[in-house]
Amino acid sequence: MRSFNLRHLAWMLPVFFLLATLRLPAQNAQQAADKSESNAAAAPKGRVIPRDEGPSIPTRAEMLRGAYGPFRLNNDLLYYHLDIRVDPDQEWISGKNTIRFRMLKDGTRIQLDLRDTLHVDKILLGTTPLKFERDTGTVFVDFPEVLHAGQVYSIDFYYSGHPVEIGRFGGMTFKKDPAGRVWITTACEGDGASVWWPNKDQWRDEVQNMDISVAIPNRLVDVSNGKLVGKTDLGDGYTRWDWHVSYPINNYDVALNIGNYVHFSDHYGDLPLDFYVLPEDLAKAKVQFAQAKEMLEAFEHYFGAYPFEKDGYKLVEVPYAGMEHQSAVAYGNLFENGYLGRDWAGVGISTRFDFIIIHESAHEWFGNSITAADSADMWIHEAWATYMEGLYVEYRWGKDDAIKYLNGLKPKIQDVRPILDERGVRAEPTEDQYFKGALMINTLRSVVNDDAKWWPLLHDFYQHFKYQNIMTDDVVAYFNEHTGMNLTPIFNQYLRHRRIPRLELLFGEAPGMVMYKWRADEEDFAMPVRVGTPGNWQIIHPTTTWQWMQTPLTKDEFEVATDLYYVEVNKQ
Ligand SMILES: [Zn+2]
Repeated sequence: MRSFNLRHLAWMLPVFFLLATLRLPAQNAQQAADKSESNAAAAPKGRVIPRDEGPSIPTRAEMLRGAYGPFRLNNDLLYYHLDIRVDPDQEWISGKNTIRFRMLKDGTRIQLDLRDTLHVDKILLGTTPLKFERDTGTVFVDFPEVLHAGQVYSIDFYYSGHPVEIGRFGGMTFKKDPAGRVWITTACEGDGASVWWPNKDQWRDEVQNMDISVAIPNRLVDVSNGKLVGKTDLGDGYTRWDWHVSYPINNYDVALNIGNYVHFSDHYGDLPLDFYVLPEDLAKAKVQFAQAKEMLEAFEHYFGAYPFEKDGYKLVEVPYAGMEHQSAVAYGNLFENGYLGRDWAGVGISTRFDFIIIHESAHEWFGNSITAADSADMWIHEAWATYMEGLYVEYRWGKDDAIKYLNGLKPKIQDVRPILDERGVRAEPTEDQYFKGALMINTLRSVVNDDAKWWPLLHDFYQHFKYQNIMTDDVVAYFNEHTGMNLTPIFNQYLRHRRIPRLELLFGEAPGMVMYKWRADEEDFAMPVRVGTPGNWQIIHPTTTWQWMQTPLTKDEFEVATDLYYVEVNKQ
């Protein structure tokens, strides 16, 4: 997810500078604007967030939303039909979600979620009203008779209300565009989709496909996920827009984008590309959005086909920087290269491409197709999407620039707590998951040390897990199996500990000799690394016990390839 709209400078800039001033060091201001995932402002009221000083203490609502408890475990989602009406004048949403699921165990209760600011009108099994119990944002639904394992059931969950804005992105917001027209959008990754619609609000289980029907005043356009099936004039001043999603989808990816959009289209091979922007931005968008094809070409080269071919690919203008809404990527990057007009990595490369088009679209492969099963494992989305920025650079401008770009992200790393967070509590992992995570993957490439193996490894890893919800352990096991190496201590050091490995180098014990070992939290940490001088690197295999090597180099001359391996070096 990306935040923030600098489009309307009048109201945006004060917020931006406030955040930059109060919450983060100056070099991280952009980063603050960038993240919803670790966003203090996005936290529910009352939650204590020491900013990256440690995991926050989860509230009861987050415990309920984060845990995969017995009333979630007993069923498997199959299908949603979200069928709603949005009234811009009243700022009101109403309708129902039809939820189809298969029971995995006999039971009389399931757990769904809807933020308690919204009203549950009724929940029906066929025509039978069901009892339910609300507990913070959770809705426990009770059935009068036992639902049997293996059987498929469908309920209609009716709700209504005014979604309260929450977090920096608002969850669901009723805004005006710069010309004063209606502009209603959603962005709810951190806070959960249940801030605006009822669903099983967790990451492990996804529906196999989905319909989204949105009734809005005739003059407006709704862009949601998937393929536009059609529009129906309801005869009461409203038109219903019907969208069909043909693939599994995360709850938080489900989006409304309601505004005075104009539409233009293109195609990439057989893949339809559809673009929706405000009328005033049409000319700029037609130029800038040409980058979508360059993005598709690069990412398909490394990982294989765009994951959602039947749904097409869309970019939709929004009043915040961006978000990876599946097949309908939210775009608010000012129609400029870089990130909100800035050189994001600070090394003169970011300005060659539109950061939001590249980063958010990378999530179509990592985040949307492959999804973390728990938000604690969210580096699977963000480290990979960030690494893919580097791959995009490499595809277009070569490896040297890619390495330079990825290393340009180093100053953003805070190293305050481990990337992998606590599972089962709806964790908000540290922002290090982006930059440190990407540099970890870049390090693994150097460890594999053979691009003829690395590229198929990445491709096959993605292909193996596409459309699945996985954990860190799945990634590590796959990489171990397919490299034949024990990479577990390396993954563990970067993901489960605060500090990166430090190469201890001790010179002068004897003439022409250097001693070396890793200082790491993982007891059996072992990682090859290139040392010597650029152009004349030599690979050594340090462990956590001292070894030695002969070298003609002096302490000052002896270098470590820290752009290829994200490590600290301590020469003594
Ligand atoms: Zn992201």
